[in-house]
Amino acid sequence: MQNIEELKRILSSPKKVVIIPHQKPDADALGSCLSLSAYLKKLHHQVQVLSPTDYPNFLTWMSGNEEVMVFEPSKEKIFQDIIRNSDVIFCLDYSDLARITPLDKWVVQSPAIKIMIDHHIDRIAFTQYELWEPKAAATAELVYDFIQLMGGNDLIDIPIAECIYAGIMTDTGSFKYPSTSSKIHRIIAKLLDIGINHSKIHHQIFDTNSENRLRLIGFALKERLTILREFRTAFFALSSSDLKTHQYQTGDTEGLVNYALSLEGIIFAAILIEDADKIKMSFRSIGDFSANDFAREHFNGGGHKNAAGGRVVNGKLDSVIQQFVSLLPHYKAKLFNSL
Ligand code: 5GP
Ligand code: MN
Repeated sequence: MQNIEELKRILSSPKKVVIIPHQKPDADALGSCLSLSAYLKKLHHQVQVLSPTDYPNFLTWMSGNEEVMVFEPSKEKIFQDIIRNSDVIFCLDYSDLARITPLDKWVVQSPAIKIMIDHHIDRIAFTQYELWEPKAAATAELVYDFIQLMGGNDLIDIPIAECIYAGIMTDTGSFKYPSTSSKIHRIIAKLLDIGINHSKIHHQIFDTNSENRLRLIGFALKERLTILREFRTAFFALSSSDLKTHQYQTGDTEGLVNYALSLEGIIFAAILIEDADKIKMSFRSIGDFSANDFAREHFNGGGHKNAAGGRVVNGKLDSVIQQFVSLLPHYKAKLFNSL
């Protein structure tokens, strides 16, 4: 990170700090925000985490969760005022302001000093300071680095370490993705030395399913999985009525796409989910095939080479399925050269 000394100076006296994760924050986005928030509070800053949307229940155990403000239209004025009156805004786990709508316009207008910490590939520079490293496995890894750069290692306590661990653990697929470097293992060792209970964190994230969620997964596997071996691709498509039947809650489909990717011979997987005003899509790949390019080129999205997301606003599920399938022949060579 350039200008760290300048930033240290800015953060050497108490400031009003706002921290914003992306929409539908995952464990990395929320864990990054809450670990940074707890650290900055120890430096006597006044900190507020503002989430553009709600997030899954399996993240609410994180320390500081109760202080997160979740946007809803009735809170527009409050959010606008907090963002406008802040001194410093941290943007964590995205490098494209479109991922925090409707907070983006207020962030742009705010006179605050802005800092982005992120590991996504496509970066649109919008802050004065950034710690941007697309090779990093998780934004939480970069928050850990940031605390080190600030000279704050001794302030990392168990609640901070737990949030960092959760972000790194989930964004590395429990330490199995190629991004899991030796550096990651060294950081994890330090977090364990601080005294976190990693088994408890795994349990809180992976083993707290509702019956509805499990049945939705079963239903999707049985009824909504299409396998296209001629393109080494498999995908799920879930309609809003499928979700309603299973009393869908935010986070219930998280990770589902990985079942499609776990099929032998399949290297590209997707999930298409019908929402009120859009079709939300997640893409996963194995090897060289770029889910990021696919999402960016066709579905207004992006992410990482092997994990990306996108959307079609006001799309109909059937026509988006058709569009997705009709694109695959153009990628046949890449799909077969990936591994
Ligand atoms: P997921 O499929 O789990 O929602 O997201 C996979 C990865 O792609 C995550 O790193 C996420 O931040 C990123 N991502 C998801 N949706 C979008 C999107 O619409 N635009 C961009 N640029 N990245 C996305
Ligand atoms: Mn991340």
